[in-house]
Amino acid sequence: MSRWLNMNNERMDNDRECADRAVRNLMGLHVLGRLGPADSARVERHLLRCSSCKRDDVDLRRVTSALDLLSAEDVAEMLAARTGGAPESSGSYPQDAGRPNV
Ligand SMILES: [Zn+2]
Repeated sequence: MSRWLNMNNERMDNDRECADRAVRNLMGLHVLGRLGPADSARVERHLLRCSSCKRDDVDLRRVTSALDLLSAEDVAEMLAARTGGAPESSGSYPQDAGRPNV
């Protein structure tokens, strides 16, 4: 238990180390390959010295590569499963907020 807490504290300390908001804001686009050469180089340089951002970069790449494997039908199925197969009955989406309850 204490080992887990220590690992967790360590992770939080690492997260706190990175104060480069500008680079962190570019991370998503970097992973998607949507940055220009200058911004991309800036992020790459940052990743070489920032373990917190490097870890996030690895996580983001895992998620996006997993999402690439999904078809539009897969996504629709997952959304339907998440809402219990009855999207009409769910009021949890913002676009449903103004819908009258009839
Ligand atoms: Zn960083």
